[in-house]
Amino acid sequence: MARKILVDGEVAAGAGDQYDYDLFVIGAGSGGVRGASTAASFGAKVAICELPLHPISSEWLGGHGGTCVIRGCVPKKILVYGASFRGEFEDSDNFGWEINGDINFNWKKLLENKTKEIVRLNGVYRRILSSAGVIMIEGAGSLVDAHTVEVSQPNGSKQRYTAKHILIATGSRAQRVNVPGKELAITSDEALSLEELPKRAVILGGGYIAVEFASIWRGMGAEVDLFYRRELPLRGFDDEMRAVVASNLEGRGIKLHPGTNLSELGKTADGIKVVTDKGEDLIADVVLFATGRTPNSQRLNLQAAGVEVDQIGAIKVDEYSCTSAPSVWAVGDVTNRINLTPVAIMEATCFAKTVFGGQPVKSDHRDVPCAVFSIPPLSVVGLSEQEAVEEAKGDVLVFTSSFNPMKNSISKRQEKTIMKLLVDADTDKVLGASMCGPDAPEIIQGIAVAIKCGATKANFDSTVGIHPSAAEEFVTMRTVTRRVSPTSKPKTSL
Ligand SMILES: Cc1cc2nc3c(=O)[nH]c(=O)nc-3n(C[C@H](O)[C@H](O)[C@H](O)COP(=O)(O)OP(=O)(O)OC[C@H]3O[C@@H](n4cnc5c(N)ncnc54)[C@H](O)[C@@H]3O)c2cc1C
Repeated sequence: MARKILVDGEVAAGAGDQYDYDLFVIGAGSGGVRGASTAASFGAKVAICELPLHPISSEWLGGHGGTCVIRGCVPKKILVYGASFRGEFEDSDNFGWEINGDINFNWKKLLENKTKEIVRLNGVYRRILSSAGVIMIEGAGSLVDAHTVEVSQPNGSKQRYTAKHILIATGSRAQRVNVPGKELAITSDEALSLEELPKRAVILGGGYIAVEFASIWRGMGAEVDLFYRRELPLRGFDDEMRAVVASNLEGRGIKLHPGTNLSELGKTADGIKVVTDKGEDLIADVVLFATGRTPNSQRLNLQAAGVEVDQIGAIKVDEYSCTSAPSVWAVGDVTNRINLTPVAIMEATCFAKTVFGGQPVKSDHRDVPCAVFSIPPLSVVGLSEQEAVEEAKGDVLVFTSSFNPMKNSISKRQEKTIMKLLVDADTDKVLGASMCGPDAPEIIQGIAVAIKCGATKANFDSTVGIHPSAAEEFVTMRTVTRRVSPTSKPKTSL
């Protein structure tokens, strides 16, 4: 894409005089807040527009903090914590805990506490902006041209603002599959704010959001049926680890329906009747469509500024997050690169440094660690086995460790922890690491630093472990499980 970078080292001295602002940001989620506050810290005069706060997003509702804080990472993790107690209670027996009487779960109490936390964080995000001197404007932003944003209200009133640069950080929104009765299904927005906890939940989707909600609702005691199109959930992750997650989900009592789609939903006196494409049917209290998200770009009038989008509506950007219009930039989910909060924040930081900090810096999307907060969680960094085999010049050495965590040897829970390291046989460089087991995200975050620094397997081997811990396995895997050549087929089960 032809483009010209504008680097404004001089902005702090008031370069935006012909405009109302040096920077106008549309969307105050993870990326927008970071972009606005960092630009302001470099002396830029910044304004940001955001929709009024509501847990369920729409054309007119959103809130400072964005998806992560209001209807994503934070509320989801709070519910995962809530759901995890079930396993803890089960495991406590052999550790001597005698729980006499019923253990009841109060969904409304958890929901109320989750909402309080979100409102608190929404306030924190507003304070980050105000203490950075960023002007906050409420309403829906759209482009008039490459230097003008129009902010609209539901009553039809509009106000225009000019800016030397515009940053679009409008995120993405859950999409529904087009089946008869689709209006009876909910998305993750509603799932995080349900009035009643479902007793029977059906989930459609094989991505991380589907898997996480399956663990949440199962942990809270619901019957959960998870339907997905492929053989295994979590497409894009290492096949072997996908198989491990699937087996753990089953082990925790979630009914898996691989290779199955939903063909129809209908209302009955007893709940929602769900018909599958295999002709089976079942009744559920709640049907969740976790079937992907689309970039929030449709209502931004992007063509007025010559901003190009791809076939799914994601804004096309270069490595600096500049769009096809040189004064318009875009970060986060609306660009559909890696749709995670820390990535949106990284892209926004690079943008602000490039444009206002006088230090051009490209976003770096290599070795981004991530986690699936299933129970137990999966966490990965670097390449999957399939990607490593494609990328390495020669063979890949696969080290795996499958063990019974010390806690399970007492609790008698039948659930192994699995770890995996992928090593380039020629260079000894560690190309990827994955773990499925308790605390995996906490452990992989540290491993990610090593991989980002280009650590070799010899570096891992020379690191002293922390004992007794699960994490020490990462530095004690001595025997190669298998050697994979570029022509071999990756393994999918241990
Ligand atoms: C259920 C769920 C769980 C998730 N879990 C994780 C996780 O565990 N870890 C992780 O890293 N990521 C997770 N994510 C992804 C993460 O939330 C997103 O990647 C991240 O929020 C993207 O940040 P963003 O700034 O691009 O967009 P957002 O945070 O979505 O912010 C966009 C903002 O723009 C506003 N907006 C939209 N249009 C307009 C407009 N026209 N005018 C004004 N404002 C507008 C919206 O209201 C919103 O506040 C999860 C997402 C979901 C849905």
